[in-house]
Amino acid sequence: MVALQAPPSHSQAARNLIAIEEALQRILAYVDVLPAEEKPLIEALGQVLAEDVTSSIEIPPLDNTAMDGYAVRWADTAGASRQSPRPLRVIGEVAAGYQFEGRVEPGTAVRIMTGAPVPAGADAIVPFEETDEPFEKAPARAREVTATVRVFKEARPGANIRRAAEDVKKGQVIARKGTVLRAAEIGVLASIGRATVRVIRRPVIAVLSTGDELLEPGAPGAGARIYDSNAHSIGALVRRYGGIARLLGIARDTVEALTAKIQEGLDADMLITSAGVSRGDYDVVKDVLAREGQIAFWTVAMKPGKPLAFGYFQKEGRRIPHIGLPGNPVSSMVTFELFGRPAMMKMMGKRDWRRPVVRAIAEDRIENRHDPRVFFARCIVRERDGRYYASLTGEQGSGILTSMMHANALTIIPAEVDAVEPGEEIDVLMLDWSRGEEWGSYLSGGEGGPAEGPAALFSALDG
Ligand code: AMP
Ligand code: MG
Repeated sequence: MVALQAPPSHSQAARNLIAIEEALQRILAYVDVLPAEEKPLIEALGQVLAEDVTSSIEIPPLDNTAMDGYAVRWADTAGASRQSPRPLRVIGEVAAGYQFEGRVEPGTAVRIMTGAPVPAGADAIVPFEETDEPFEKAPARAREVTATVRVFKEARPGANIRRAAEDVKKGQVIARKGTVLRAAEIGVLASIGRATVRVIRRPVIAVLSTGDELLEPGAPGAGARIYDSNAHSIGALVRRYGGIARLLGIARDTVEALTAKIQEGLDADMLITSAGVSRGDYDVVKDVLAREGQIAFWTVAMKPGKPLAFGYFQKEGRRIPHIGLPGNPVSSMVTFELFGRPAMMKMMGKRDWRRPVVRAIAEDRIENRHDPRVFFARCIVRERDGRYYASLTGEQGSGILTSMMHANALTIIPAEVDAVEPGEEIDVLMLDWSRGEEWGSYLSGGEGGPAEGPAALFSALDG
């Protein structure tokens, strides 16, 4: 995807940075597709098929009716009209799931319910509306079968008949290896009688927060300490993208604590840590990571985001990739989106995982001040009159997690750009396609009406 590549740049700073796409490719090179497992159908939602699925049956299994009405011989209805109805003798009725034993002979009809197999001899279905029997909701069994029915309209041969195997043929490959199972695929697999399916298993992602300042949510707050949000935002993203999040809790900034927690994480398919990889004096994380496994530190040319650690650990012949996210809550979410999510997608066997990038008209001034890094500002993208508009979600500091809460997209402001002015077109990376209607509660809390502060961001939603 071109948009994610930092454009060529000749500044000194840019040469020290590694491009986003390059970092991503380096990470993906260390990630493997996971093995397959047999799963109950409903639990395989979002997983990738690890087998070609062939149907051993036809769907529908028999010719059946698409309407409630009468199974007839179309020739018996030739020339029928309201003025000149054709009377037919009703010889029985049949509901879905049953088969009529007799045969529709000339001059006769069988009362029939949607989905019921077409009786032998019949070659058209006349809906109730085209007969003198008005459609009634009462269960068929509760009523006497009319002795004679008058048909008001000529039926075409085959009218309202769904043919056997018109959906699925016997021996047909329904879905190939590599297909992502969405609701429709799950439904089709059920329709051919499958109860389980072979899919690439979900990755178990161990999530570890590091830092002496962190507290578990729920613990009593204490002055200088802060609650651990990263484990929860990242764990939630892991779940959202189809993985199994294993939260390891908080490791203190000591070699012993960290080493122990990392060991706990090595049963997972990937380890995600946050914080401790910057140049802070107390960040022992990078030392421990380097000692326990292979590790590289990159300053990726993106904002927010730097720095990023990537490496792997070895355990019992397995290689466990590790991504060390920055500590700042926005940075860790954005870097997970750009690097952690693709790694998960590869593990799950997905190929079509790139997020859509659309062109949008900037509604705010967005400053990048010739920064050699791509700027992923948090924004709300809305559609008006067939065009997309992007407005920033207020303050853009990498510690302001609420800016993420209000965003459905990230701007892609190329490196070296000074500023984007309102009205200019930019690329935006869509995180989801919601339009923000459900996010008003936080922003509209104030008394001042729509004109002030963040609430103004939402005024356009009404339009
Ligand atoms: P560090 O990378 O350790 O220097 O952390 C950068 C910033 O992110 C600091 O302000 C940390 O307090 C903050 N931070 C680190 N980990 C977390 C976390 N799990 N939840 C919230 N904030 C964090
Ligand atoms: Mg720290």
